[in-house]
Amino acid sequence: MGATRIIYLDHSATTYVKPEVANAMAPYHTEHFGNPSSIYRIARDSKKAIDAARAQVAAALGAEPDEIYFTSGGSESDNWAIKGIAFANRKKGNHIITTAIEHHAVIHTCQYLEKQGFAVTYLPVDEFGLVSPAALEAAITEQTILVSIMYANNEIGTIEPIAELGAIARKHKIPFHTDAVQAVGNVAIDVKAQNIDLLSLSAHKFYGPKGVGALYIRKGTKIDTLIHGGGQERRRRAGTENIAGIVGLGKAIALATADIEGHNARIRALRDRLMQGILAKIPHARLNGHPEKRLPGNINISFEFIEGESILLWLDDEGICASTGSACTSGSLEPSHVLLATGLPVEISHGSLRLTLGDVNTDADVDFVLEVLPKVVTRLREMSPLYKGKDGGCNVQ
Ligand SMILES: *Cc1c(COP(=O)(O)O)cnc(C)c1O
Repeated sequence: MGATRIIYLDHSATTYVKPEVANAMAPYHTEHFGNPSSIYRIARDSKKAIDAARAQVAAALGAEPDEIYFTSGGSESDNWAIKGIAFANRKKGNHIITTAIEHHAVIHTCQYLEKQGFAVTYLPVDEFGLVSPAALEAAITEQTILVSIMYANNEIGTIEPIAELGAIARKHKIPFHTDAVQAVGNVAIDVKAQNIDLLSLSAHKFYGPKGVGALYIRKGTKIDTLIHGGGQERRRRAGTENIAGIVGLGKAIALATADIEGHNARIRALRDRLMQGILAKIPHARLNGHPEKRLPGNINISFEFIEGESILLWLDDEGICASTGSACTSGSLEPSHVLLATGLPVEISHGSLRLTLGDVNTDADVDFVLEVLPKVVTRLREMSPLYKGKDGGCNVQ
């Protein structure tokens, strides 16, 4: 048993590292290993490499290099942005606005701040996962010190109207943070034009290495430090720099943003064929997220009467790597907070499957999934008492 061929359809979870990126990183593990805080030549080489990567990240976002701070990834950037703004502005107010569909790096940080005395509004979304600019404006109070709204959702792929939301925060002089971890490389980002004050990104979501990311902080933004220690990153983020990782991040973001439209056109064509094929071949299936305002590689579909986890196991047996929208892999059977926020009933959200396409995928992959998935769903439904009864109950075992 076990498939020999691997079909990777989980690019929103992580990506492989492009060979050009790995090659750019290699000398910084071995030859250029100097600590950039030291004064000899190999240390200066490290420092130069970091400066070059900082310029690459800034160029990709329309920012200035001294507005870019390297971190250990998306989770740290989100934690820094939210806690840093909250604690620095505590005397001004205690109210934070975010949404019900954020990544856990944002939601759990906000929940922690609620325990510290902050008040958080979790804006609802519509059936497609869109946040309403009018709802944001209505939620703002005299106490509001931060608005944090993700650029694109990691489960259902919905792309939010970031420039419009940012303009509202700007009008009220409230710092605007966006978790753009899923957006970089898929959407053209310009922090100035889009009224963004803070932006989180992570290299391993766009063919860079894991464990390295960045936070863009607009000049003049009042923010506390999260990681205390040495004077690295202009005294705002301590710790000896992950030089190889930072070099990889710089190279990866330059490659990912060089031809966003060309890249998207290829991925979108594959995605659309797969998505339409699944919906045409499998009855009682429903697309989650927005039909157009979605990440080019994202498919999220709910299949009634079955469990997403069972689909994953059967797909894995065929060498297909996919994901569910829910957190059921922990065995908790907790439905996805994102799908529930779009109004999907709990029992249907349990049967959700996320397929996220990327650089490695081909037409042959699409053909294979279109052959395998309908059979898997049919077999699982044959085993499901819910399908036989079609009574719509929740199959909790
Ligand atoms: C992956 C992801 C994160 C976390 O990034 P890490 O680098 O894995 O810590 C945060 N937000 C979103 C939207 C993500 O997809």
